[in-house]
Amino acid sequence: MVNGSNFQIEQQCPQCGAPIILDEADRILSCKFCRTRVYLAAEDIFRFYIPPAEGLSETIYFIPYWRIKGLSYTIKEKDMNRERQNSLFSYSISSTIRTIDISNKYFDINFLSLDSKLLPHSLGLRPQAMKLKFMGSNESEGKFLKFSPTLRDNFINDYQTRTGGIHKEIFIGETASVIYSPVYCANNRVYDALLKKPLDLQKRDVEIEQTLISATDEKWHVEFLPLLCPDCGADLPGEKDALIVFCDNCHTAWNPSNKNFIRVKYCAWRETKDDNITYLPFWQLKVKIAGFPLETYADLIKVANLPKAPAEVWTKTPFYFFAPAFKLNPALFLRWCRQLTSAPPPNDLIADFPVKKIHPVTLPVNEALESSLLTLVSLTADKRNIAELLPSLNFTLEDSSLVLHPFKVSTGELVHTKLGFPMDMNALNMGTYL
Ligand SMILES: [Zn+2]
Ligand SMILES: [Zn+2]
Repeated sequence: MVNGSNFQIEQQCPQCGAPIILDEADRILSCKFCRTRVYLAAEDIFRFYIPPAEGLSETIYFIPYWRIKGLSYTIKEKDMNRERQNSLFSYSISSTIRTIDISNKYFDINFLSLDSKLLPHSLGLRPQAMKLKFMGSNESEGKFLKFSPTLRDNFINDYQTRTGGIHKEIFIGETASVIYSPVYCANNRVYDALLKKPLDLQKRDVEIEQTLISATDEKWHVEFLPLLCPDCGADLPGEKDALIVFCDNCHTAWNPSNKNFIRVKYCAWRETKDDNITYLPFWQLKVKIAGFPLETYADLIKVANLPKAPAEVWTKTPFYFFAPAFKLNPALFLRWCRQLTSAPPPNDLIADFPVKKIHPVTLPVNEALESSLLTLVSLTADKRNIAELLPSLNFTLEDSSLVLHPFKVSTGELVHTKLGFPMDMNALNMGTYL
């Protein structure tokens, strides 16, 4: 498996049975044979499995692995050397100040989701051409072992509490799913059921076999929701990886991911001059930070030391964090969080405004929320102060909505028609695969 790449999923059309290949990130299944379009929904996370080799008669046991992929940011202290040269007397004074540094990387990892020291700790290298299946798509496939949700949290906590000047690790997960890997037992050995080769279990195969037999099993299947507007019954359009669907008929937005349609508030920063506008979705987050006064835009001007005259209107303008509601590479993602959060909020937003071209929402609001701390740290002028406050800061999401921002193509770039910020089109199309 190539780092950063996605798995493909083999799934039959729920209507006509035609074979369909999906991308791991897809949420909408479209069948080109019978024209069925359904939304793929799950209460929590998707579960996939690696199909075992054909012709095996032994019982297949499926071992769960967490797969987490996304953006990762590290907030840490850094020494900064300041040197002042005096050219007249040719001496220099150097001083060291401590500041805060945010580094980023792309994050793609999988790890065993069972409490076992003996089973392989990761999925290992798997051929890119291998296609996964949704768990539950074949009832007689074998026994799926119940996975441990706490192991994911422990893993993330381990990362976050590392010391050595690191204040915090932040993950903005684009993908969190469980992938099951098949094994079977024969001749007192445990075999990888894809490669049909024994696992290296340090001669504890029999012990592992007992664990597999006695483990609790997991039941799950993906839900197919017809893509019809719950309000007006119209067909809901949407790109295949769209998490949120917009109704062209009654101008509503819906999040079907939890097996029922939940209405999503949205508004548009309307561009009247031009028809050829693409709207990019951003999450607007009303966040309560315990012990940190950031209620109004005037508070932000103070905290970030923005070059703006203190105006009466800012003290009455609520402060919001903004984050892209779509996938971008880590550096660009944070840059857009900063740019939109520090820009004065528009006062001419129109709720439920019908727009034609909307870039799909591919990042859920809970993941976008993780960016608030990053944005705050990166905007705060007094880095020493924020470093001391970091361990005690607590963020609670009070309200959220989508704001559609107008962009227009200009010399190979998308440019925000109101703010003038350019968006790299390649970064937008390629998402995080950079
Ligand atoms: Zn079909
Ligand atoms: Zn509708």
